[in-house]
Amino acid sequence: MTGTNRTQGGEGHARLPERRGIMFVISSPSGAGKSALSRLLLQADPDIRLSVSVTTRPRRPSEVDGVHYHFLSVQGFNALKDRGDLLEWAEVHGNFYATPRGPVELALAEGRDVLFDIDVQGTLQLYEKMRADVVSIFILPPSIAELERRLHRRAEDEDAVILRRLKTAETEIAHWDDYDYVLVNEDIEKCFGELKKILAVERMRRHRQPKLPETIAHLMTDLAEVVRRGK
Ligand code: 5GP
Repeated sequence: MTGTNRTQGGEGHARLPERRGIMFVISSPSGAGKSALSRLLLQADPDIRLSVSVTTRPRRPSEVDGVHYHFLSVQGFNALKDRGDLLEWAEVHGNFYATPRGPVELALAEGRDVLFDIDVQGTLQLYEKMRADVVSIFILPPSIAELERRLHRRAEDEDAVILRRLKTAETEIAHWDDYDYVLVNEDIEKCFGELKKILAVERMRRHRQPKLPETIAHLMTDLAEVVRRGK
């Protein structure tokens, strides 16, 4: 169930609270399997939507404008930035990437979860602005040899681009301990299972249940009444 009427627990607990949306951030070096994991999650779980980033990077043949990214010129990107329409932005591999602010704020306010496929720089900016809403996951490749193999297998990028991505991987992996969870993607199904478990428990956290104080207050009133009558 999506939207503001979502409750947890079922079985007639009509007063159980709605939930605040999660900013579910997945980062990893290119080739560690983050995009495949994101895709699996979006297919499996209708309650989470992708935050479609804007980028000045050229579109890859397999990508669709407006689905994988909104592809922009540098001028278009700067115009959004100057208007304050970007929640975070970063330069990665010589191109600009950013998260548009509007769709994220709307989703969170409506209690929907948002998936972010962004880099370390972007994650740290989201922490500064809305740490309590962020759940961050860093995906590691099982080995560097495997990372290289996956980048070459993708075959959509030239060798020079692949080398640049490997160099960036060094800086990114060094930030592993800035993340709430770290998963090693040796087997995609197993890693996906772990990802789903994290999302499931994070959805139940106390601070994501804004109506909980009200529920507790009702329980306490009823309890006080029962205790008073029993005197
Ligand atoms: P790619 O070019 O392979 O699609 O993405 C390159 C890197 O940019 C990836 O690590 C990806 O997570 C990151 N990235 C994609 N969108 C954004 C964004 O909106 N903000 C930030 N900070 N990084 C992004």
